[in-house]
Amino acid sequence: MTAISATPIPAPASQILLTPGPLTTASLTRQAMTHDWGSRDAAFIALTAELRQRLLGVVHGEASHVAIPLQGSGTFIVEATLGTLVGPKGKLLVLANGAYGERMLAIAARQGRPAVALRWPEDMPVQAAPVAATLRADPAITHVAVVHCETTTGLLNPLEPLAEVVQAAGRAFLVDAMSSFGALPIDLRRLPAAAVMASSNKCLEGVPGLGYALIETQALAAAEGNSPSLALDLAAQARGFAKNGQWRFTPPVQVVAALVQALRLLEAEGGPTARLARYRANCDALMAGMGRLGFTPYLAPEVQAPIIATFRSPAGFDFARFYAALSERGFVIYPGKLSQAETFRIGCIGALGPDDFTRLLAAIAEIGGAQA
Ligand SMILES: *Cc1c(COP(=O)(O)O)cnc(C)c1O
Repeated sequence: MTAISATPIPAPASQILLTPGPLTTASLTRQAMTHDWGSRDAAFIALTAELRQRLLGVVHGEASHVAIPLQGSGTFIVEATLGTLVGPKGKLLVLANGAYGERMLAIAARQGRPAVALRWPEDMPVQAAPVAATLRADPAITHVAVVHCETTTGLLNPLEPLAEVVQAAGRAFLVDAMSSFGALPIDLRRLPAAAVMASSNKCLEGVPGLGYALIETQALAAAEGNSPSLALDLAAQARGFAKNGQWRFTPPVQVVAALVQALRLLEAEGGPTARLARYRANCDALMAGMGRLGFTPYLAPEVQAPIIATFRSPAGFDFARFYAALSERGFVIYPGKLSQAETFRIGCIGALGPDDFTRLLAAIAEIGGAQA
């Protein structure tokens, strides 16, 4: 090895990321990234196999689905899944109540696939009855896609009633579970979903760099040749894994190692149920504290998922100043992403506990709360 040296990148002061994601990871997860894995080496092939097995285990898809990881951020896996499953003769119905639903429509448009939308306000969950009516009226629709937790606001869309009407109409159900996978309950033994998509850097608490789709075996078999993309073709990606356990193209080896470590930590914590309980404790502490400090949540409590919380910006609120003052104190938050109201967001997920939120709230109180 060479002895060349240079000035190391200065590590910023340690900060808590309330920005899912990237989000705050466990030190064990970050430590898993210090090795240079050979991507075609037996040790890395075993790591990939463990990754794929554990991803299925999180949502009980072992008997019905194939786990297909893919390089890139979450949007890459959504684009890959839609391109692979919605074929040239397909038509997509997107149930949209936020930016990530709209993004699926933008992807379908780029891919030249016919797509229609049913829309709800950003503070209202998607409902099943209009979906059933739309599917009855339009037999050309082959696939229905929804976002489980709309990270735009933190709103939870209930999957079961939607999956039921989609299945009853004989169409395929696709779930963007990016910000719910690993925490909110998803059980593929009961939920009729052709695909569930998510990424490394949200509730699994890995580092950013890969997404994955769990695709139902028959849906995947029927998808050969659909994808308009070479690199984002998940049927081909799955064939690669089936052939020799290897990735078709250069995998982000350190990201894979970190995600396997993060999945072992998820199991050690007690699985998605225990993780959800921790996130709920985080979210409860955050909501109660922000209320005391004069902030109003954007969502009604019954539709709020304990993943990310949106708050209305008080009159005369200076978000840039608020953000900078919190950042100086070691907390990084998120701007709002709404089309209508002025808001900002604080994530509840990551390797964090309620005590971290107590410290965050003390910092917000110090800079003046809603009067900041
Ligand atoms: C994070 C996220 C995505 C993907 O976003 P990237 O920035 O590409 O990682 C997609 N859908 C939802 C619901 C998300 O929360």
